Amino acid sequence: MKENLIISACLLGTPCRYDGKSVKKIDLAPLLERYNLIPICPEIYGGLSTPRIPSERQGARVVMKDGTDVTEAFRRGAEATLNFAKLNGARRALLKAKSPSCGKGEIYDGSFTATLTDGVGVAAELLISMGIEVFTEDEMDKLL
Ligand code: SF4
Repeated sequence: MKENLIISACLLGTPCRYDGKSVKKIDLAPLLERYNLIPICPEIYGGLSTPRIPSERQGARVVMKDGTDVTEAFRRGAEATLNFAKLNGARRALLKAKSPSCGKGEIYDGSFTATLTDGVGVAAELLISMGIEVFTEDEMDKLL
């Protein structure tokens, strides 16, 4: 039986990004041989609309470019993502790199100047803290 894998919906071509676009769709064929793909989008789960003003982490807070504090929406979205992972018995997740929700390893630094810093997105952080292994699309080979 195939394992369930949580995956950022934008990596599947869903136009749920802040700008109403998807990202470059990844090659799904090798993944589908091993996994059932379970799409998630923490920012949508948190109640944010699409398109939306971009957000970045500033320490424990998450703020939109216009200064609106969206920490609570990101937290809700992360919890919904975790619940969805648990419901599906998923032990691994493939999430979009650099996102303030889904990123892992490096994310934008909160200055809205396209500057990266070490860090992790809010949903990725929660999944990792609950023992779910998180990979970005740059690490797909580790899942195959
Ligand atoms: Fe993609 Fe995650 Fe951003 Fe949703 S929150 S658009 S799944 S990177």
